[in-house]
Amino acid sequence: MQICLTDLASAPSGRIQFDYTIDLSKEEVAFSFPFQKPVRMVGEVADAAGVITLCAQVQARVFTRCARCDRPVEYDKVTQVEFLLVKELSNGEEELPDEMYLVESDTVELDDILIPELLLDMEMTVLCREDCKGLCPKCGKNLNDGGCGCDRREIDPRLAVLQQLLDKTKAHE
Ligand SMILES: [Zn+2]
Ligand SMILES: [Zn+2]
Repeated sequence: MQICLTDLASAPSGRIQFDYTIDLSKEEVAFSFPFQKPVRMVGEVADAAGVITLCAQVQARVFTRCARCDRPVEYDKVTQVEFLLVKELSNGEEELPDEMYLVESDTVELDDILIPELLLDMEMTVLCREDCKGLCPKCGKNLNDGGCGCDRREIDPRLAVLQQLLDKTKAHE
């Protein structure tokens, strides 16, 4: 959605509110498409004596998979976005401070600001539950469903030889 900053001056109490949804189902994040439902953008752009602020919430339902056991996981996510919209850097400033967003014209495309913020805020690792037991590295069974009986003791490679000797000794007993 586009907002025209010059309209702000004539808008009631200098604010323009927005509430719309956008289809991000083709947006790829870490080799998957987490936004299977429309993403909602709610917020306002306000002008207080020439200082223009954008304050918004991006509300998404995220569809992904557990990083440990690969089961489907879905959850609600809210990304809070707050920026000062500036048309130029103030004197002496060489870099744009984090809380500022440089607008190139009077027309601001909200999607260009809000979508990258949502993507930056995406969790890197999602688990189906905090204590997900994952998959058995030997047989691939989902260990959340119960044990599989495999011997999964982790053996230091330097000790593995010793373990083999011990097993052999046992076998001879
Ligand atoms: Zn899991
Ligand atoms: Zn197993």
